Amino acid sequence: MKLLEKEIRYLKGVGESREKLFRKLGIKKVEDLLWHIPRKYLDYSKLKKIKELSDGEIESFVGTVCGKPTEIETKSVKIIKIPVEDGTGVVTTVWFNQDYIKSVLKEGEVFCFSGKIERRGFYIEVKNPEFEKYDQNLLHTGRIVPVYNSTEGLSQKVMRNIVNNLLEQVEGQLEDVIPPYIRQKYHLSEINFAMRNIHFPDNMLSLSLARRRLVFEEFYLLQLSLLLLKESIEKNEGVKVQNAKENIEEFKRLLPFELTNAQKRVLDEIADDLESSKQMNRLIQGDVGCGKTVVALAAAYATIKGGYQVALMAPTEVLAIQHYNESKKYFKNGINVRLLIGSTPKREKEVILKEIEYGLCPMVIGTHALIQEDVKFKNLGLAITDEQHRFGVIQRVELTKKGNSPNILVMTATPIPRTLSLVLYGDLDISIIDEMPPGRKKILTYAVDESFRQRVYNFIKKQLDEGRQVYWICPLIEESETLNAKSAVEFAKSLKEGFFKDYNIGCLHGKLSSKERDKVLQEFKEGLIHILVSTTVVEVGINVPNATVMVIENAERFGLAQLHQLRGRVGRGEHQSYCILFNQSDSEISKKRMIAITKSQNGFEIAEMDLKLRGPGDLFGTKQHGLMNFKIADIVSDMEILKEARKAAEETIKLKLVDKTLMERINKQFYNNIENIGL
Ligand code: ADP
Ligand code: MG
Repeated sequence: MKLLEKEIRYLKGVGESREKLFRKLGIKKVEDLLWHIPRKYLDYSKLKKIKELSDGEIESFVGTVCGKPTEIETKSVKIIKIPVEDGTGVVTTVWFNQDYIKSVLKEGEVFCFSGKIERRGFYIEVKNPEFEKYDQNLLHTGRIVPVYNSTEGLSQKVMRNIVNNLLEQVEGQLEDVIPPYIRQKYHLSEINFAMRNIHFPDNMLSLSLARRRLVFEEFYLLQLSLLLLKESIEKNEGVKVQNAKENIEEFKRLLPFELTNAQKRVLDEIADDLESSKQMNRLIQGDVGCGKTVVALAAAYATIKGGYQVALMAPTEVLAIQHYNESKKYFKNGINVRLLIGSTPKREKEVILKEIEYGLCPMVIGTHALIQEDVKFKNLGLAITDEQHRFGVIQRVELTKKGNSPNILVMTATPIPRTLSLVLYGDLDISIIDEMPPGRKKILTYAVDESFRQRVYNFIKKQLDEGRQVYWICPLIEESETLNAKSAVEFAKSLKEGFFKDYNIGCLHGKLSSKERDKVLQEFKEGLIHILVSTTVVEVGINVPNATVMVIENAERFGLAQLHQLRGRVGRGEHQSYCILFNQSDSEISKKRMIAITKSQNGFEIAEMDLKLRGPGDLFGTKQHGLMNFKIADIVSDMEILKEARKAAEETIKLKLVDKTLMERINKQFYNNIENIGL
């Protein structure tokens, strides 16, 4: 429908000034308003006779204005009383400072009222009730009434009227994108019914039918877009790597340690993918420290032996360097691996670029520098992305475009529950490494309050004097926020001037340039910095085995999954490691969360608990992902509908039910989702 694409100001009842208010609510187009789902509903649906009205209850009734207004004026307030009757009794409506009411409630006219009843014997009163003219189409009274998220200047009444105008204008003309077959099979109501009833429900049953349908639609479109993306990749004639299995076995023999069973299983899955002519499109998910890099390098090794080039992209220079060094450790038999990062000197860069272009360099590890225009591969066979949640889909796709349908491998340490990974990574095959290399000691985790501070400091000093290093995390970088939270910059200064004056303290935060950040991290890796005070920027895959203490200030402000990731920075070497959480909050939920994290070391388990204790919007703590921007669906309570929608999407593709309208919606939805979930 054309109207839906138009700017909101073209709508009846919306002018330029209201358009501005709507924009504040994120409503730009007419369609946005249609999908502006009520926040809640008031049930004014049961109309009563006046004699049946109960004291103290919120009730609705219809009555005729049966007398002139009476006014009482005091210094501060003007009270107007107007009587209303329905043949069974009289109600006095009472209005404060609303002079206009006299000209609206005219004697003899019939209105519907909803409000809280006050009854003293035969005298019945209702103060400032909702009211409207009684006719066929009640919007504000005598029905289930929607309540919207709104903003100052846009009253609920205005909002309802505008939405109702819109619904009348589009009545019966909304196109149903869900194919009839699917609609029937999954008992979904039709879109015009659903839209009318989500805003102005006829009754509770209609409301729940409407809601189910719209939730389903949101999930369904998302699943379709992910499945289609997956299908389009699978259709590609991919790079086929000869003898991948044997070469992976050879690589295993080069390793100084035995792979875990989980690593072996994932490598088997990868080997199958590599040897098949389908393009591999696989996500390796696994807790921090489970050894994803070595698995990726095994895949790289086999690909190189098969005669192709490999690219590995990491989100930061430090990580790229780390992977580069690790690859040097394993690739002992003369594989020419190159490092390409922003700070690579120009002359060296030119040489590397030529080597890549002419196929002299079989593997390059780097940062975003890899997807720059001047990087050309001779025959890229495998594109690996590490900590892929730090990149967008676009960047992932950019890297694969450097070759001719190269195999794709992405790695992430962000543990998410299975149901969620279905939503987020529906286009990828998923391999899970759910086992840690042997010999890892449990990270001893303690949640403490302020009274423990001095003891904690003494303990840290002991660790430092034994030669260990410490991470110290603060939630903010400046003292500006009103919350009582420690800022990294201030805090580092106070440590340096106080108890830890004999140690080198580095500070890391988001306002540093990536160069400055990498310098600090490098110094920490080299042991020049003893205590690294940091915001959460440190959470991405950095590996410093000598660091044994992770202190987190204001731990109550982080998501559980995030705390777990931060904790994973320690416990990477031979020494016993510790995680100390300063919890500044007394709230019950905070305490529960602290108990959860001290008790469990399993990322997936923690992610599930995080969902239960916080709700999905907070899954990654500080909204860094804005993960779940659904308009109506709720990933937790609508989990069952999500599963059905997934099944329906699979059937839709199998039965070839995707027509032009549906395709258009999917495309739109998909691009929205890329923005929303930062895939
Ligand atoms: P992550 O999955 O967080 O990226 P890494 O790949 O950085 O984990 O691995 C962490 C460390 O564990 C590395 O130093 C790596 O060499 C080592 N490692 C990986 N797999 C094993 C294993 N099976 N046995 C022993 N050490 C391993
Ligand atoms: Mg890693």
